[in-house]
Amino acid sequence: MKINTSIQLIKKYAACPVCGNALLGNGNGALVIHTDRFVRSCRCGWHVELGPEEIKRFEESGEARKPASQTQNNTNNGRANHVGRNQEKY
Ligand SMILES: [Zn+2]
Repeated sequence: MKINTSIQLIKKYAACPVCGNALLGNGNGALVIHTDRFVRSCRCGWHVELGPEEIKRFEESGEARKPASQTQNNTNNGRANHVGRNQEKY
């Protein structure tokens, strides 16, 4: 799959939605990325697996195309107003 897609999937499933664990390896959890498969599992037993169809749907949903800095955390903690400090000006 596209690297950008995998990055967005990793971000989306970084922390386990059940127990909040965000670690990999050593029995904590696993992350598998193949051409058309994405698997993320956790020590608590939660796991998600996306096949080619799900990955395609994820890409088409636009989630995979959002800038990495704006995918989550739209909490207004005062720092969200630093948008003017954009390093990639056109
Ligand atoms: Zn978990």
